[in-house]
Amino acid sequence: RLILDGLGKRFGAHAALADVDLDLPDGAFVVLLGPSGCGKSTTLRILAGLEQPTSGRVLFGDTVVADGERGEVVPAKDRGLGMVFQSYALWPHMSVRSNIDWPLRVAGWSAADRTARVAEVLEMLEIEALADRYPTEISGGQQQRVAIARTVAPRPGVLLFDEPLSNLDARLRTDMRAELVRVHRATGATSVYVTHDQTEALAMATHIAVMKDGLLEQFGTPTELLTTPATAFVASFLGTPP
Ligand code: ATP
Ligand code: MG
Repeated sequence: RLILDGLGKRFGAHAALADVDLDLPDGAFVVLLGPSGCGKSTTLRILAGLEQPTSGRVLFGDTVVADGERGEVVPAKDRGLGMVFQSYALWPHMSVRSNIDWPLRVAGWSAADRTARVAEVLEMLEIEALADRYPTEISGGQQQRVAIARTVAPRPGVLLFDEPLSNLDARLRTDMRAELVRVHRATGATSVYVTHDQTEALAMATHIAVMKDGLLEQFGTPTELLTTPATAFVASFLGTPP
C-alpha cells in the first residue's frame, strides 16, 4: 500500500497541496486527475522524493518515506520506484538496448540477468527490432516505449507517470493507453498516473483521485465517480467527454 496521510505542500504563501489523504491499494492503477495547477505533479514529485512535503506523511507499506513535520525521509533511490515523464530523457549516445540496460547495470544485476531482462522488456514493449538503434533514429512514440521499457526493467514496486503521452499524436496516444495498462498488469507494480484528460483517466484507471486547487475532491473507482460524484466539480469534470 501507498499512503498519503494529510499531505500538504506550500510554496511560500501558496498552498499547492492541502491535507490530501489517499490510501492506494497494491497493484492499483491510480490516476490523479484535475485541471492545470491543481497539484497533480507536486503530489507525484513528493511520492518520487523529488520534492519534500511541508506537512503530512507518505508511507510505502509500513515505512514512512517522507514526513513534513519531522523531516524524516527515505531518499528517492531507496524507494523502489520508477518514473516516466512527458519528456523521454533517453541517453542520446547509447543504443536502445544500452539505455534499457543502464539502470540494471547501476543496480548491480549480473550480466546474464541483465541480458535476459532486457530481452524480456524489449518484447513487452514490442521494440525488439529497435534494440540496436539510437534515440535519434526512432520516432517519438518509439522513444516513449523505450523510456517505459527502461523504467520497468529493474522491476520497481511503484511506477509513477506524469502525463507521459501528452507529446504523442491522438492515434498513438490511444494505442499507448492500452499498452500501458498491459505493462501495468504484466509488472503488477502499483502505478500512479497524472493526467488532466478525463477520457484517458476513465480508459486506464482502476481508481481515480480527482483534485482541484490542491484539494482531493473524491477518490474511487471510475464507476463510483461516474454514478455517485461527491461534488458538482467531479460531476462536471468527469461528465460528458467533449
Ligand atoms: P499541470 O496540469 O499544469 O501540470 P499540476 O496539477 O501538475 O498542473 P503542479 O505542478 O502540481 O500542478 O502545481 C500546483 C501549484 O503549485 C501551481 O499553482 C503551481 O504554480 C505551484 N507550484 C508548483 N511548483 C512550484 C514551485 N517550485 N514554486 C512555486 N510554486 C510552484
Ligand atoms: Mg503537472
